[in-house]
Amino acid sequence: MILAEESAIAMPLDIRTIPCLDDNYAYLAHDPETGATALIDIPEAAPILKALKDLGWTLSDILITHHHYDHIDGLADVLRQHPARVIGAAADAHRLPALDVKVAEGDTVQVGSESGTVIDVSGHTVGHVAFYFAGSAAVFTADSLMALGCGRVFEGSKPQMHESLQKLAALPGETVVYSGHEYTAANAQFALTIDPDNAALISRVREVTEKRASHLPTVPSLLSEELATNPFLRAHDPAIQAHLGMTGANAVDVFTEIRTRKDNF
Ligand code: ZN
Ligand code: FE
Repeated sequence: MILAEESAIAMPLDIRTIPCLDDNYAYLAHDPETGATALIDIPEAAPILKALKDLGWTLSDILITHHHYDHIDGLADVLRQHPARVIGAAADAHRLPALDVKVAEGDTVQVGSESGTVIDVSGHTVGHVAFYFAGSAAVFTADSLMALGCGRVFEGSKPQMHESLQKLAALPGETVVYSGHEYTAANAQFALTIDPDNAALISRVREVTEKRASHLPTVPSLLSEELATNPFLRAHDPAIQAHLGMTGANAVDVFTEIRTRKDNF
């Protein structure tokens, strides 16, 4: 039997990591079927424009995760060369650059033939969103869930950050987590103080140390790997609870304790 063209399996987005500023990451997500290309966050224009030129891609969409300058500063310069559609959180429209499309939790974002879902991940800021592309097993989390860590809670509450991270934790384990910063080495040192006997964590820390020694990025990471090693996703874990003297406490309280310790680390 010959499959109709419509039922052919879609090709996943071709995703490229672009180091920006000192320790930020922007991402390009290119749909090979339609040529559509999305940029996720714009820390600075120059490395993004260079990558687009080298790849021969033209931006169709720019997805903004949150209002901090290190995620939006390059927008005007990028738009001058790539007049793309700008998408960001409706809740943050008052403090983001002009948006063409305002989105909220559950909305769909179309990049060529791939559709993404908006997830509200407030906590680091109120109005921070993540973009999940199920067909490509990719989630862009910026300063919510990070490799071995999570963003500092500036505007929301720690329970709110916990709830946001739990939404991400519920995605399929094979999802690749594209986060906003190269903070993994510092996160690793902290994680060891919370979960010192976790063999998966110990071996991941070794890997992270080797990669950073060779100046290689440790981002993106696999969600299953985060679930096994990231203390901010493991507040329910009996060994962590015991280590913190919080056996049987609820996960929100344990998360709050872990986040507070990281603030003071
Ligand atoms: Zn931020
Ligand atoms: Fe940031």
